[in-house]
Amino acid sequence: MEDETETVCRVCGYEDEVFWEGGWPTAAICPCCGNESDVGDASVMGLRNYRGYWVGRGAPWNDSLEERRRKSQGWDLLKQMANVPPQWR
Ligand SMILES: [Zn+2]
Repeated sequence: MEDETETVCRVCGYEDEVFWEGGWPTAAICPCCGNESDVGDASVMGLRNYRGYWVGRGAPWNDSLEERRRKSQGWDLLKQMANVPPQWR
C-alpha cells in the first residue's frame, strides 16, 4: 500500500499543496496548472496529455494571486517542472 503524502503536482511540479494522501487523490486543484488530483492522474498518459495541453496554451496559472506571489520570487516554469517525480514525467 502506498501511504505517502504527495505535495508536488504530478502535472506541473507545483509544491505546497497536498494532492495525494494515503494513496488517494485529495481533489485539490493545483493553483498553477489547474489540474484537480483525481484517480485519472494515476495514468502517466493522462498526465502527459493534460500537461501537453496546458503548456500548449502557454502554461496559464489557475490562481492569479499565487501567480503574482510566485513570479515575484522569480518563478520559472522549467525549474518547477523539474520537481515532477520521474514516474510521472
Ligand atoms: Zn499543477
